[in-house]
Amino acid sequence: MIDREKFDEWYNEIVEEAELCDKRYPVKGMNIWKPYGWKIMQNIDAIIREEMERTGHDEVYFPLLIPEGYFKKEEEHIKGFSSEVYWVTHAGKNELEERLVLRPTSETALYSIFSLWIRSHADLPLKTFQIVNTFRYETKMTKAFIRVREIHFFEAHTCHEDFEDAERQIKEDLEIAERFFKKLCLPYVTSKRPDWDKFAGAYYSIGLDVLMPSMKTLQVASIHQYKQNFSIPFNIKYEGKDGKHYYCHQTTYGMSERVLGAIIGVHGDEKGIKLPSSIAPIKVVIIPIIFKGWEEKIMEECRKVKKEIEAMGLSCHIDDRDKTPGNKFYDWELKGVPLRIEIGPKDIENNVVRIATRDGIKKRIAREEIEKIKDELKEYDERLYQRAKEFLEKNIHVLNKLEDKEGIVELPWCGKEECGKKMEEELEMKSLGTPLPEKECNEKCAICGGAALTWLRLAKTY
Ligand code: ZN
Repeated sequence: MIDREKFDEWYNEIVEEAELCDKRYPVKGMNIWKPYGWKIMQNIDAIIREEMERTGHDEVYFPLLIPEGYFKKEEEHIKGFSSEVYWVTHAGKNELEERLVLRPTSETALYSIFSLWIRSHADLPLKTFQIVNTFRYETKMTKAFIRVREIHFFEAHTCHEDFEDAERQIKEDLEIAERFFKKLCLPYVTSKRPDWDKFAGAYYSIGLDVLMPSMKTLQVASIHQYKQNFSIPFNIKYEGKDGKHYYCHQTTYGMSERVLGAIIGVHGDEKGIKLPSSIAPIKVVIIPIIFKGWEEKIMEECRKVKKEIEAMGLSCHIDDRDKTPGNKFYDWELKGVPLRIEIGPKDIENNVVRIATRDGIKKRIAREEIEKIKDELKEYDERLYQRAKEFLEKNIHVLNKLEDKEGIVELPWCGKEECGKKMEEELEMKSLGTPLPEKECNEKCAICGGAALTWLRLAKTY
């Protein structure tokens, strides 16, 4: 893991050095996805799609532009976003009769249409998602994948008959998150956001936060229970079994390219990024160690090994560029390829291949046991996860009074907003919220000394 002090500089450089993005595009906060970075992001999206499929969500794709009328239907919501949206005001030289918003998120667009789609209880639950770009005029300093103005965004939106069914959805979302982040080897903490920091319009919000080497947390997913806060203004009603009409209960689950930012940060080291095998565009790279007179033999062996690896369902690449092996090692370590195979004359004679995982494990594998690299990748992923988990756990501090600590702090809390805000102020941290699953607390509030109802989790955040 990268040292805390060096992290920001390292991160800003590595995203370009590893060819994930190009930050030279002249619109602030809007970067170019380079082919390698885009492939990784698409592999992340593929895991999300798989999870959505498994849980019966259907993919939709709504227009980028939202009419002002839709956007205004939810006054609270507008308060949440109005200062952060981009407006389209002209078409050619003509001013538009109705201004259009570049979607900052899609509640208002989807819900206006859901009110047409949903007629009866037989239409419920409605479970949809989309993966689209959204736009937010961020005023804070931008940072590749972490704080950008054009965001690669995933959003699931569901409608339910009643509160209980919406609550079941939230449980399912938490389980989806658990499977999803495990595949990315990313441990996180789950917190119910305090009321003063929930999503505008939400009944409650849950945030999933990853601890970065900078000791700041990064929110990588959020889940919201809307109750009927949107269905009433957007008139999303259904006819119940009793013939009466009811407003739906709704939930959302959102994630973004920040997930990639978290992977880069949490798994990175001095040599570059480390990709979990589930999302690596190249899982195995073969480096021919060429000696004079052996050229053809070695290349032939490399091609054979590649074929066998691909037959196992693993993407594999032979690096036959005119560069030294050392330079090639450097390049692929920078880009986080999970496993490297070296093949030279001695290996052919001894009937072995030499492997090296991106986290530094080196071994020889008998040529006829090449399928063992599958296990090696599994163990590599597990090591990435365990190392990150150790780091996270080591930096969660359960305290009973205010103390200066790095990472995540948990303090006994009476539940009053003023005490929570006082903690934020004194520690110069932000509240992540109360731990989920709930944790018993028999202490006294760290501010007022009253009986603590729960814990408040705080951290410096991105
Ligand atoms: Zn208190």
